[in-house]
Amino acid sequence: MRDNHYLKTLLTTIWDKYFPDVPIANQISIKFGNKSYRQLGAIKSKRGDNSSSTIVVTSYFKDTTIPEHVILTTVAHEVVHYAHGFNSPLPRLYKHPHRGNIVDKELIKRGLGEELRQSKEWLDKNWKNIVGVKRKRVRRVRRFIIFSF
Ligand SMILES: [Zn+2]
Repeated sequence: MRDNHYLKTLLTTIWDKYFPDVPIANQISIKFGNKSYRQLGAIKSKRGDNSSSTIVVTSYFKDTTIPEHVILTTVAHEVVHYAHGFNSPLPRLYKHPHRGNIVDKELIKRGLGEELRQSKEWLDKNWKNIVGVKRKRVRRVRRFIIFSF
């Protein structure tokens, strides 16, 4: 079982390796949240208060049968939002957090293209078995994975 300590170590590793130019401008924490199958990760801060940011990752990822590149790209996706100024004190670089595929473009630019490809492929093949939802619902899940995790 992965725990919150695992997530902290992973976040530090990701930041050092792929985002060394992005300043840590407030208090950042990371933890497992609900067992959400539609939203794999999120970055949050209090409305009007950017003194802290919290990255939340679906508790499904505690399961060690899920490959690390899936968790890595999910966490890195949230760090991209932080770098772009969404739920962080950094200057906002874009009007919308996802429009124009800006998150994936940033991940590819930072050397995570292969991990991203592998992660999407794995989720597409395996996610429905992990979450055990019916086929009809899986179609929606897939779309969500591609655009919103
Ligand atoms: Zn996102």
